[in-house]
Amino acid sequence: MQHVRTFNTYIRDEIIKKGGWVNSHAHADRAFTMTPEKIDIYRTCNLQQKWDLVDEVKRNSGIEDYYARFCQAIEMMIQQGVTAFGTFVDIDPVCEDRAIIAAHRAREMYKNDIILKFANQTLKGVIEPTARKWFDIGADMVDMIGGLPYRDELDYGKGEQAFDILMDAAKSRGIMCHVHVDQFNTPREKETEMLCDKTIEHGMQGRVAAIHGISIGAHPKEYRYQLYAKMREAKMMMIACPMAWIDSNRKEDLMPFHNALTPADEMIPEGITVAIGTDNICDYMVPLCEGDMWQELSLLAAGCRFPDIEAMINIASVNGRKVLGLD
Ligand SMILES: [Zn+2]
Repeated sequence: MQHVRTFNTYIRDEIIKKGGWVNSHAHADRAFTMTPEKIDIYRTCNLQQKWDLVDEVKRNSGIEDYYARFCQAIEMMIQQGVTAFGTFVDIDPVCEDRAIIAAHRAREMYKNDIILKFANQTLKGVIEPTARKWFDIGADMVDMIGGLPYRDELDYGKGEQAFDILMDAAKSRGIMCHVHVDQFNTPREKETEMLCDKTIEHGMQGRVAAIHGISIGAHPKEYRYQLYAKMREAKMMMIACPMAWIDSNRKEDLMPFHNALTPADEMIPEGITVAIGTDNICDYMVPLCEGDMWQELSLLAAGCRFPDIEAMINIASVNGRKVLGLD
């Protein structure tokens, strides 16, 4: 039987020609930790609760456990033609430096096969003194400063201060900053805008990437387009992780109709660099993500109703290299 060259095989071939797939965001240190016995954690807990429930996994993981998970995740990426892989790594009072030590060992092991870039995940925030101590230690062990300012907003009402701490850490080290923002699909969040303001205030234009930006779609069109203008001014880049938030829970709030995805269909025509990542792979946070790059890309294009072939190819390849600081 003769096979025709379909839309998706064309896109896959073009991605390879443009240097291969880039997975711009993940949490490889916790990949594959979901088990049938633990699925109730996903069913019954919200993300804020899971930020602490994963302590169990972290506490019980030694360097060898972390190393095994990194190797499994890295090999899964290499098999798909991923040539660069950016992952967050927990560095905090619970797992201390065990995960990042394993990450560096894995990077050495696969150095001829894939480019690996690390950012520090701050599940305990950056305000509480012990959390801050581990943030400072971690900042010197990674390629990019990573952040989760909502943790400090939730616990201490100090989200803004957390943004400043992240920016200072990245700026003083001359490295990029990747920040989880606007995750909860609600018009009450304006974190991407805060990240733009802080990027400009700290002179970090072009060196900051926002991760998720789901809540942007919950705002009216006028606000969204003002935000895109501000993102251009801040040279803010965006990382979409479609499987991570497509499970955003049903709500009774009235808001502009949208799927729970980064609005790539609006951002790309506005000149904003959008890249793609798997985020959590089969763990407590996102048990149903399989780490399949094509699934992520097709979900983004379908869910945003944006099957722009050239844009899809760039999202999965060259844009990822930009957000990881490789080009
Ligand atoms: Zn993440």
